[in-house]
Amino acid sequence: MTARKVVARRAAAGIAATSILALTLAGCTGSNENEGATDADGRPIVKVLVVQNTNQVPMTEMAWTKQVQDDCGCTIQWESVDDTAWGQQKNPTLASGDLADISIRAFSPTDAAQYPGVFEDLAPHLAAMPNVQAFFDQKPDARRLVETPEGEVFVLPSSRGKAFSGSGQHMMINKAWLDELGLDVPTTWDELTKVLEAFKTKDPNGNGKADEIPFNIRALETGGFGWYSPMLLLNSTGIVTQFNKGPSGSGIYVHDGTVGNYLVTDEFRSVVTYLHDLMAEGLVPKDAMTKDSSAYYNDQLGDGKTARTGLIFGWSLDDFGDLADQYVAMPAPAADDSMSPDDVVWDGSDNEFENNKLAVSANAQNKDAVWKVVDSLYSETVSAQQLYGSIPDFVTDDGDHQYTVKPEALADPNKYPTLTDRLAGWIPDEVTFAGAKDSEALREVDDVYTDQYDNYDPVLDKMPDYVRLSAEDETTVANNNTAVLNFALQKTSEWIMKGGIDEQWDDYVAQLEAAGLDQNVEIWQKAYDQYTADAK
Ligand code: MG
Repeated sequence: MTARKVVARRAAAGIAATSILALTLAGCTGSNENEGATDADGRPIVKVLVVQNTNQVPMTEMAWTKQVQDDCGCTIQWESVDDTAWGQQKNPTLASGDLADISIRAFSPTDAAQYPGVFEDLAPHLAAMPNVQAFFDQKPDARRLVETPEGEVFVLPSSRGKAFSGSGQHMMINKAWLDELGLDVPTTWDELTKVLEAFKTKDPNGNGKADEIPFNIRALETGGFGWYSPMLLLNSTGIVTQFNKGPSGSGIYVHDGTVGNYLVTDEFRSVVTYLHDLMAEGLVPKDAMTKDSSAYYNDQLGDGKTARTGLIFGWSLDDFGDLADQYVAMPAPAADDSMSPDDVVWDGSDNEFENNKLAVSANAQNKDAVWKVVDSLYSETVSAQQLYGSIPDFVTDDGDHQYTVKPEALADPNKYPTLTDRLAGWIPDEVTFAGAKDSEALREVDDVYTDQYDNYDPVLDKMPDYVRLSAEDETTVANNNTAVLNFALQKTSEWIMKGGIDEQWDDYVAQLEAAGLDQNVEIWQKAYDQYTADAK
């Protein structure tokens, strides 16, 4: 969209607003609106804002940025802002419309929907960005993540590559304890209960004390169900959770193309009942529902020598620090002995794509240079360097799409020489990174779930990440969820600790329905049907 169109669209809002905008535009562009700022050598200037993690070095210290500047034939002015500062600046920036030419990890497709005219529609310019075009051709789900129902693309997604596909949620058990006790990895809840009883009573850590925590679970969060929630046991019942992000945290799930809310299902009831039984038998800590998360994470590290934890939900074996070698990831155990293993599933979250990586201001002046910057960022070699660090200091290019990550790249967790998962780029499927400890750690635990991922359809049995609500529906759902989740989370915690779910169930369901649970299901079904029409 050109600056002229922005003025035209905004003119509908009122004459006064139009006058102010016209003055502003005249002030910054002179008589020719296509004429942008240049440096002393006549090279166009492109301003790029990057929202960085505080554990990353500034953009100007990343050598690969010089390659982007060479590729665009322009001068790039990098500006870094951290998450806290950006949290305060973002809305005023959107309201003013005064954006950097390019913004990285600053805006989402939802922002673009709420502020029409602020962002350039990139869809008509893909021919000027062949790397982005190739990304979309090879990964249609990445395009769906950001595309509006009208086919506009205001924000580009990123891909860290297929090495990051799969969930961020994993069930991990102390294999050294199983071996010590002569037990196998449990495949059903009944077997799991017996394993946890042995963990509790048979001193598997061998220190002569009954200090083992058989199954440590994380307290429920206040905003919904999410990372490492004990409700991951829903997958044991055949309900696919998606706890990395999205509406799964408020109970939304999909089965055979039909949206539901698991908060009012028999499966949810059986998970809560099972967790209560485990707590009542001392197999889950009594204070699990009130313990803060740092204490929970510290339990896993123990004293670094003697493990105290038998089973958790977490990210990877690195969660256990120096004790990592004792643990393995395990598939979800079946809730019921009579269930077919083919009906047991695992969390359907995904770490490969993100939807909020690069936006271009509708008012950017040096558009040709902007397209070249964006295309360079999405090239293979620049993407690889955004993810792991500059070549040759931190990464070597070994040819034929193979790279080696040097230990220096990941050496200091407080000073990453890269954008890591914040990259605005695309790692194609043929690319491999030797020495990439982050993706190797993920594969080690996530590949355990390959069969359980195959037990369901990625469109018919889960909410694809690209399904989004309209701004109006988003508000309705959020308002309903305030009441739904307040009540559901409070009752779930209470039932895990004290029991009583059977007596209170009918009243609970009625109260959630009165709070708008069904309306939210209808809204998500409508969005699901709209966005998956071409994908099923
Ligand atoms: Mg012991």
